[in-house]
Amino acid sequence: MKRSFATALCLACLSFRGPAMAAAAAARFPVVDVHTHTSFGEKPAPIFGGAYELEDYLKQRQAAGIVASVSMEQWTGDRSPDLRQHRVIRCAGVGERVDLDRIEKGLESGRYGCVKIYLGYIPRYAADPAYGPVYRLAARFKVPVVFHTGDTSEKDALVKYADPLQIDEVAVANRDVRFVIAHLGNPWIESAAEVVYKNPNVFVEASALLVGNLSTLDPANVEEYVVRPIRWAFGWIEDPSKFMFGTDWPLNDMKSYLEAYKKAIPRKHWKAVFCSNAVEVFRIPADWVTCQ
Ligand SMILES: [Zn+2]
Repeated sequence: MKRSFATALCLACLSFRGPAMAAAAAARFPVVDVHTHTSFGEKPAPIFGGAYELEDYLKQRQAAGIVASVSMEQWTGDRSPDLRQHRVIRCAGVGERVDLDRIEKGLESGRYGCVKIYLGYIPRYAADPAYGPVYRLAARFKVPVVFHTGDTSEKDALVKYADPLQIDEVAVANRDVRFVIAHLGNPWIESAAEVVYKNPNVFVEASALLVGNLSTLDPANVEEYVVRPIRWAFGWIEDPSKFMFGTDWPLNDMKSYLEAYKKAIPRKHWKAVFCSNAVEVFRIPADWVTCQ
């Protein structure tokens, strides 16, 4: 049996929380959002509680207590502004054409702090030889590679390329690279959790399991399709250092997504999941965030 009896006992203990702990749970704390988009005005996207503009991005972060973020460049390349002054790490988007020169120059200059590969949107598996040089660059610059996994918002994309199980192969072949599974492989959550559990160099975030302003959706759906899957995967992985927080703004309202996520993660692991794991994996500068 994978889960030890001691762990089960400890989980049972968590339900005995006194008033002091409840008060602490309600307090605000610094949060890092590892999945956002900042191609402001470039792409029509569903907007919840504002516009797809920098001002609304910063307003949403403020409301949720988010102090730093990771932004995913589109695979087509885009003109996202450099937002380092707002504590935003930017991932280089990798498209059909693997533009190694752009990625390398961006990593060298510090414009990029990570790489994003769009499995499914780009019809290529993670182990495709075309991505090999990207993993070498990631190892050289010590930056994580994030994979889109799971359902695609485009009907003509091919989800067979977005199955998270395949990340196992590149994780084993590239132990010197840290990989991040985006969206918890939704709906292939079990595969994603197993690959993260098994591989020391694979991490996960569970952004956009549902999209919208979660405070306006049916609470039963939020529980079933957001809270339960995160709670289950977090338990299966058995390593709180592997899980990070992400919203996929502007597809989600940041604050209500954070509230749902918090329900799935035991209070004693909030500092890790909502802050320090992201600081570690994305090497967020020490003067940007102090996790508490
Ligand atoms: Zn996204």
